[in-house]
Amino acid sequence: MPVTKEDLLAIADATIEQFRLAPIGIQIKDVACGRARYKTRKITLPIWVLERNEAYSIWYVVHEIAHFKAIRKGHGPAFKRAERIMLKAWGIEIEYARAYAKKLYMNGELEYERKPGIWY
Ligand SMILES: [Zn+2]
Repeated sequence: MPVTKEDLLAIADATIEQFRLAPIGIQIKDVACGRARYKTRKITLPIWVLERNEAYSIWYVVHEIAHFKAIRKGHGPAFKRAERIMLKAWGIEIEYARAYAKKLYMNGELEYERKPGIWY
């Protein structure tokens, strides 16, 4: 089931709270891809995420927030460790293709599988 804008914001808030992060501003905009800005503590989520399923949407939000758990660590091991732990709180397991999800499982079910050459 797709999520709403309010769901996305609630997922972000719950994750920020659970992992005791300082507040992060969330914007949902018509952009090609998401980003996290350390200086302003803001994340931008693309509006098209709302058309995807729950597991994918949660992953997308958690991915951007995880950048604040592993500040300036890029998509390296520290970032991936943080992302994995944060996803686990939502019942999601990730298999990576470089920096991003190759497969996402939610409660043990395969919910997303990346198509070759497509990054979203
Ligand atoms: Zn990233």
